[in-house]
Amino acid sequence: MNPQATTPVLEVVGLRKAFGDQVALDGIDFTVNESEVVAILGPSGSGKSTLVRCVDLLEPVDGGAMYLDGHLLGFETHRGHLRPMSDADIQRQRRRMGMVFQQFNLFPHWTVLRNITEAPIRVHKVPAAQARARAMELLERVGLADKAQAHPRQLSGGQQQRVAIARAVAANPRILLFDEPTSSLDPELVNEVLQVMKDLATTGMTMVVVTHEMEFARNVADRCVFMADGYVIEDRPAQEFFRSPRSTRLQSFLQRTS
Ligand code: ADP
Ligand code: MG
Repeated sequence: MNPQATTPVLEVVGLRKAFGDQVALDGIDFTVNESEVVAILGPSGSGKSTLVRCVDLLEPVDGGAMYLDGHLLGFETHRGHLRPMSDADIQRQRRRMGMVFQQFNLFPHWTVLRNITEAPIRVHKVPAAQARARAMELLERVGLADKAQAHPRQLSGGQQQRVAIARAVAANPRILLFDEPTSSLDPELVNEVLQVMKDLATTGMTMVVVTHEMEFARNVADRCVFMADGYVIEDRPAQEFFRSPRSTRLQSFLQRTS
């Protein structure tokens, strides 16, 4: 057995998050191991976006803990007590994760190439020539090498999302988080983005993917996590998840969506 297969990259323990009276995460536990692809499924409002946003340190949490490569996220020990990290330290931890949003979030006034090289050059201090070479290699991989000098508005939604994925990979993250990366795309553009994600998975990238794409979850994910009302209801290997759902809630969810 590959020893890497059981190394946790991300551990989430008892994670809690409320917005006022609205409890979004009610004690979430899950682990993502090295090179694993974990799909997160569940009805709208079940807490999927909140979960990945908390992991990516975009939302403060109310309880529980998250670890990336064994390091506590968002908190540090000070005189024997835990306290929230400074913004600068949070930004440092965030750089070890890549996030791909439903709305690609590219900078409209920059070229595709600059969108990808900006963070490596400015933040990670990679020499410009090296950052550009790497960006071109990634654009090649997502099938957009000829669009390096284009601006986002000149691209289709599917092409923009492929650029956003290349941008996330360019920072060499330990884990990539996707929040419904194909939900804002016209149906004919969904597959080109899923194909890029599938290719990434085969390179051994560790990935958490919130998605409604059942075929992707079934065929590409190693594990599927079903959330409802801020809880993890089932967390199983993908094949079992679809073949023999245990809870009635997952059974009816799968019936509705397939
Ligand atoms: P999902 O991504 O599964 O659709 P969300 O994580 O977006 O679910 O939302 C989970 C719950 O938290 C919902 O009840 C939602 O209304 C609430 N929620 C999410 N974000 C906010 C916010 N910024 N302010 C208030 N409530 C929020
Ligand atoms: Mg969501």
